[in-house]
Amino acid sequence: MNVHNPNFLLMVEGLTVSFDGFKAVNDLSFYVEPNECRVIIGPNGAGKTTVLDLICGRTKATSGSVNFKGRELLSMREDQIVHAGVGRKFQTPSVYEDLTVFENLELSYPKGHSVFGALTFRRDDKVKTRIKEIAETIFLEDLLNDKAAYLSHGQKQWLEIGMLLIQDPELLMLDEPVAGMSVAERKKTAELLNRIIQDRSVIVIEHDMGFVADIATRVTVLHQGKTLSEGSMERVQNDPKVIEVYLGH
Ligand code: ADP
Ligand code: MG
Repeated sequence: MNVHNPNFLLMVEGLTVSFDGFKAVNDLSFYVEPNECRVIIGPNGAGKTTVLDLICGRTKATSGSVNFKGRELLSMREDQIVHAGVGRKFQTPSVYEDLTVFENLELSYPKGHSVFGALTFRRDDKVKTRIKEIAETIFLEDLLNDKAAYLSHGQKQWLEIGMLLIQDPELLMLDEPVAGMSVAERKKTAELLNRIIQDRSVIVIEHDMGFVADIATRVTVLHQGKTLSEGSMERVQNDPKVIEVYLGH
């Protein structure tokens, strides 16, 4: 089954990975619509991070299909998947501490084909404008010339989101983006995500249920590599199975 359905940006079907016989992700299927913020929740070890690793090509699946805009990602390399329009942020921020906010964003600007002479100026202007736009989106417009080392933990997380946004992915995947953030930073991150799904879809792994309520279009509850429950925040919160294995603790 690999027919593209235009109602979905991403179709994950029968996704399975086996590590020495242990199925960390086990026949998982879910579908992400355009402009959707899908939140994946579930207990530690449920397979949440592994799902993102499989979609972005970092871990090779044992079987299944990941269809992104009609293309099968499971047969593509990590760099090809990025190029196809899938951006992935890992749990720990990985910005260049010695470089400024501006330089970090500039480094992440997609490299075009060779540029000659006068065209360079036009490209420079375009890049600068885009960097300023992104800096505003991630609340760092006043800190463009500061070294990343001086940013707070939350600001570094935003910068890393900016470094992905500047590549204009159609699907952005974030692993626990608000871990370690203050309450105020969490609120701003929710605002940021609500803004960026105007132009793309996002998959977020998160534990903070207040934050999940602020951002989720739909929630998938993962347990032992499988979907335990799926739907609106309200629906999964009231699902007895979810209360038993996750929210009740
Ligand atoms: P979560 O993000 O939901 O906490 P993970 O996806 O990190 O869970 O891990 C799911 C399970 O798969 C865990 O039991 C973990 O130990 C195991 N696992 C993850 N990656 C590997 C790997 N590369 N090799 C072996 N086991 C792994
Ligand atoms: Mg994880």
